[in-house]
Amino acid sequence: MFENLSSPPADSLMEVGRLFRADNRAAKIDLGVGTYRNGEGRIEVMAAVKEAERRLLASQTGKGYVGPGGDAVFCDHLANTLFPDLGAIAEGQMALVQTPGGTGAYRLGLELAALRSPAARLIVGTPTWPNHIPTAERVGLRCVTYRYYDPASGAVDFGAMLAAAAAARPGDLFLLHGCCHNPTGAILNPSQWHALAAALLEARLVPVIDLAYAGMASGLTADARATRNLIDALPEAIIAISCSKSFGLYSERTGMLAVRAASSAAGEACRKTAESLARTLWSNPPDHGAAIVRTILADADLCAAWRGELREMRERLVRVRGLLAGSDHPGADRFAAQEGLFAMLTLSPASIAAMREQNAIYMDPSGRINIAGLNDHNIEQFLSAVRTASAADGVA
Ligand code: PMP
Repeated sequence: MFENLSSPPADSLMEVGRLFRADNRAAKIDLGVGTYRNGEGRIEVMAAVKEAERRLLASQTGKGYVGPGGDAVFCDHLANTLFPDLGAIAEGQMALVQTPGGTGAYRLGLELAALRSPAARLIVGTPTWPNHIPTAERVGLRCVTYRYYDPASGAVDFGAMLAAAAAARPGDLFLLHGCCHNPTGAILNPSQWHALAAALLEARLVPVIDLAYAGMASGLTADARATRNLIDALPEAIIAISCSKSFGLYSERTGMLAVRAASSAAGEACRKTAESLARTLWSNPPDHGAAIVRTILADADLCAAWRGELREMRERLVRVRGLLAGSDHPGADRFAAQEGLFAMLTLSPASIAAMREQNAIYMDPSGRINIAGLNDHNIEQFLSAVRTASAADGVA
């Protein structure tokens, strides 16, 4: 069976991580994989998470299965935290299912869409998170791509986005990043979001919204606002929510699928169908991360402490982004209009390789950097290497 199986191509980010770990230089800088790092360059356990874990350890009496739909209290708290007072929640039009991370939420949402509508296509702006297209193809959905990011301006190619929506067929799925676009950082402004909602409604498309970075740009509800507005404006939407970044729970695989349905009866059917699909995928989601999130969100003091920590994280990102925007990298001012963990440097592959070899600076070969890897200790080293690289590329 496996005799002629060839290995899939190496994942470029995983390869960057492997090379980084093998580098013995003390001043190495990791701008690869998208995890938040503090000002000292470390992935921390948030204090609110530690406290929730302490309480769980003291109170947990068993580790039974949580059921395919997961913990409904976790789901309700998370939905109400991101979308306070949302009409569709109160009216029972939101199906909520706990999933293993945002990846599981995205997969489950597409499984549900493909089950219902196998001929639907997923309209995807590129570049995008490397899992988006392969996951859709795995569930049998065809993908149609358009150019999301204009590398010359560093902004969204909004004309291409609207043209892609207009060219789609009714019932097609339209992929969106709710905030903090990965890998470009380029985002829509409020009037573009508004125009996009009208275009999706007109073309009768179903948005698939990947909300993996809520709280990392402007604030929790602010970062969820575009998603919320789409839920309000459209009869149907699929939303994949990750707690990996906002709670620093990467390894705990904590997320939620939220499906906005046109009626409470359809919402109930979506939840039950998603649960039966989850049963064949992972049977039951892991409990620990969701129990942490539930414990935090259910306790006003703990929730306030967590919000405070999240605020510090995003303020640090905004500050580092400001330093990048003020640098002499060609077109650096574009970074100020972008948000989240990521930005695309305009460097040739040869310069990216040279920065790795000569300066121990590690980033994706596309030029994507995770700006959370930068801090007061290494920013000068980074900016000076970028200056040299830009000069070598002839763009300085
Ligand atoms: N969507 C995007 C855009 C992401 O960047 C990530 C994580 N890198 C995810 C989804 C999935 O996150 P999780 O680890 O929760 O599966």
